[in-house]
Amino acid sequence: MTHFLFVRRAALSVAVLGLVAGTAQAQTKVKTKSSSVGKTKATVPAVPGQTGVGVSRANMDLTASPCDNFFQYASGGWVKNHPIPAAESRWGSFNELGDRNQAIERRILDKAASDRMAKPGTNLQKVGDFHAAAMDSMAIEKAGLKYLQPRLSQIAAINDLPTMQHYLADPKSFATGWYGFGVTQDSKNSTQYAVRMGQGGLSLPDRDYYLKDDARSKTIRAAYQTYQVNIFKMLGDDQATAEKNAAAVTRIETRLAKASRTRVALRDRESNYNKLTVAQATADYPNLNVPLLLRDSGLADAKDIIVGQPEFLKEVSAMFKEEPLADQKQYLRWHLVAAVTSALPKAYGDESFRFAQVLSGAKQQQPRWKRALRATDGALGEAFGQLYVDEAFSPEAKARAKAMVENLRTAYAERIQAADWMSAATKAEALKKLNAFAVKIGYPDKWKDYSALTISRESALNNLFATAEWSSRDNLKKFGKPIDRGEWNMTPPTVNAYYNPSMNEIVFPAGILQPPFYDPKADDAVNYGGIGAVIGHEMTHGFDDQGRKSDASGNLRDWWTKEDGEKFVAKAAVVGKQYDAFTPLDSVHVNGNLTMGENLADLGGLTIAHQAFMKTAQYKGGKSIDGFTPEQRFFLGWARIWASHARPEYVRQQVMTDPHSPEEFRTNGPLQNMPEFHAAFGCKEGDKMVRPTADRAKIW
Ligand SMILES: [Zn+2]
Repeated sequence: MTHFLFVRRAALSVAVLGLVAGTAQAQTKVKTKSSSVGKTKATVPAVPGQTGVGVSRANMDLTASPCDNFFQYASGGWVKNHPIPAAESRWGSFNELGDRNQAIERRILDKAASDRMAKPGTNLQKVGDFHAAAMDSMAIEKAGLKYLQPRLSQIAAINDLPTMQHYLADPKSFATGWYGFGVTQDSKNSTQYAVRMGQGGLSLPDRDYYLKDDARSKTIRAAYQTYQVNIFKMLGDDQATAEKNAAAVTRIETRLAKASRTRVALRDRESNYNKLTVAQATADYPNLNVPLLLRDSGLADAKDIIVGQPEFLKEVSAMFKEEPLADQKQYLRWHLVAAVTSALPKAYGDESFRFAQVLSGAKQQQPRWKRALRATDGALGEAFGQLYVDEAFSPEAKARAKAMVENLRTAYAERIQAADWMSAATKAEALKKLNAFAVKIGYPDKWKDYSALTISRESALNNLFATAEWSSRDNLKKFGKPIDRGEWNMTPPTVNAYYNPSMNEIVFPAGILQPPFYDPKADDAVNYGGIGAVIGHEMTHGFDDQGRKSDASGNLRDWWTKEDGEKFVAKAAVVGKQYDAFTPLDSVHVNGNLTMGENLADLGGLTIAHQAFMKTAQYKGGKSIDGFTPEQRFFLGWARIWASHARPEYVRQQVMTDPHSPEEFRTNGPLQNMPEFHAAFGCKEGDKMVRPTADRAKIW
């Protein structure tokens, strides 16, 4: 599983769908925030130490004490001055930068959409037509269910188990639900692609939403039922039939939820890797017809399947026999329609939003152009990525980011060598892995080839179907080929970053290499505290509780001595306990196990970035800028990237589903453990930002 810097959120269903097949854990892979920069051209020469850049008192709350709550001290002003927009459920630095990146994307897409002379089959024509069709609400209204009908008829025509198996196996059929299936790198043999299957098929954000009995879970389930009933009625069912169908879908999904593993259980890489021969999988899941699934997917040569969650697939196989076929068809019908409401008449999108609102707390739907933009980025992000990069990302910015990565790598090596708890044997393997990290910055060297994808202005919905089929085939055709090491899992304008353990690579799109994360005009302190800590974060994922299980070649293999492994687990447990105790809302606790990898990456990343910062002339010079010492500016740079706030509904969903802790704790959590921070702000034993020495976490 890839580790992101920040939560990835679903784009229009189109993009979500298109990528389902490719996910390692067979969970729905979602597209990220889009993003990048307005006026700050990266070509401006660096003026280290320029006053008024990088740290602004307006973003701070100088009435708060940095030793009591550093988040409030550093970002209290920003939060106060940046209320959450009505169409958003959270608002922070990532969104602020994302908005600036979207302004650039919007210009590119509007220009492409207004160009009716683009040569057919070119990227420009596809991008322009996709975006124009997504924006054309009149045409979408006029089309009604015209373009959906053939797909609904296909489901209606299913009359026995074999026809359903064919429907599910056909890459053309836009079948969603039941389970995840696709081609992914084999995590124990990283030079090969493998077929992977696993749990999936839910509509609500997590299994717990179906199974918990608290008041809020019940409210959400009631809203979900209203949503289903209203959609079924719009498709032509009468009230009684709509209610019956909604109940059937929910019953099926609840059964899937019961058979699903928790998110904490899904994090464990060993137990979610179960290699079966095709014969064994066929015998274990008799009603899934694995041989047919492979054949129709063009994977007839596969000898093995990596199954994430064997007990889940057993349950699905049983359900295919036990659940009435009529109900299974309603389940497929629901998943089809719910995945494409964005490209159906407005009433469908409104219903979808009414329900999403209960989950997220957003007050308004996002404007159409933002939704269309995210869909276009999800479908064809690399087709216009080059244009975005030309405008927002210079070769100089790329070179400077690369240099920073190498400084961080050197600093990390020093910390590994200095770790007093690690044996020489484990250190040697760790250094080998660190030196083997592949680094991707800005944008792909080789862009995706969209030549097999047909896009037109006729129907936004058909464009979604075409994109999903193309993505699915693009994923399936990797099987048997050499690993594509140039591939990116994020588009260039994305404000995010990731570590991919099987590739052993760290990846930073152009979208995040912008202020406030990285500002060519700011001093080193601010940039090391910002993008430096982000780079350190991604590197530390290679050595977090799950990332450490892969070796330098990206293979899941235990390279730790027994004693060192045990020491690591004990050290990580200290971090887990700290985060378990954080409460973003009354009675809502952070889940220290769910967020373990991210918390370790934040703590390690900031530590490594600080180590690298200590080598700079600014640190050694010790000269204050605007009244702050270099070290203070480093920590203010860190806090700046996590300036953020969210609606309570969002926070509740976040702690249940997001492996990242809420931003206040991402800011303060690592600092409470760092003597360098305490010294920088003169914090004393007994202050809230100073953990008692015996309770402190330190790994790297
Ligand atoms: Zn991360």
